Amino acid sequence: MRTLDEIRKLITARTDNPDQPVAGHHLWDSLVAAGITPTINLNSAGRALCIDLPDGTTIWITEQADICHPPSDHESWCAIHFHDPDDQGPYHLIYQGPGNLGITADTAACIEAIAAWITAHTASGAVARQNTYLALPETIPRDARRAAWMIGYAKPGFNGRHPAAPTNRHTPTHLDRHLDTGTERRGACLACAWEGPVRPHQNPAIEDALDHTHPGWRDLPTLPRSTSGKNSARLQAHRDATYPPHWFETGGPLKVWTSTANERHEAGQAPGGGYLIKVHQSEQTEDTSQQLSLL
Ligand SMILES: [Zn+2]
Repeated sequence: MRTLDEIRKLITARTDNPDQPVAGHHLWDSLVAAGITPTINLNSAGRALCIDLPDGTTIWITEQADICHPPSDHESWCAIHFHDPDDQGPYHLIYQGPGNLGITADTAACIEAIAAWITAHTASGAVARQNTYLALPETIPRDARRAAWMIGYAKPGFNGRHPAAPTNRHTPTHLDRHLDTGTERRGACLACAWEGPVRPHQNPAIEDALDHTHPGWRDLPTLPRSTSGKNSARLQAHRDATYPPHWFETGGPLKVWTSTANERHEAGQAPGGGYLIKVHQSEQTEDTSQQLSLL
């Protein structure tokens, strides 16, 4: 296995004079000083520096497929995060220097963007995701920033440009990220680092989160939406009799029938501020209908 110093020597692969400092050395030394371990893909020695991330994705940094140029000739670094460097998979441009900063300032700006991006990419849990997303510098192109996981707009834990605050008890929310291929979602928790699987739609992501925060919620009865007047009191009595004691005080969800397919679950609309979960009427069984008709 090569040492960092041995790998660093590969930077000059494309120069005649290996002792002459080149822009790649400046980038390498600055990354190491920032606590980021660079490497060099043997096939691309002299063309790019790489940063291998724990999830198997890689960031490449180069100036037009060259890192061997004299520092005085440097114009701008370009950093691209490849999800699968060997394939035509998704990638994000996370830094493109303006071209007039000079090697020192351009390298510093590039590393600031990369460090913030890595922190956001490797974060876990709704609060860490949201706050590392908010901390991404403006030098990262908007398309890339939108591709970082963030708390859904106006969803539990969302606080505009202000940081999200952790809760004391497991609290469901969901994360969004916006890719070229569309928006992806996943359930998350405001108290811990738990995250659900990636889902194309919001409702399944929220349901995953409820499995984490309120296990057993799927077995609870689905009720008609509350109405005013006499029925309302009877409905509430039925709800209190069928839902576990103190369920809503813990932010538990309330399941209600809806005649609209794919109606979105609503945060904050259950009696204790939990989710109102919409169950499409077509799933209503005959038994439940009869039970409810007795109300
Ligand atoms: Zn949790």
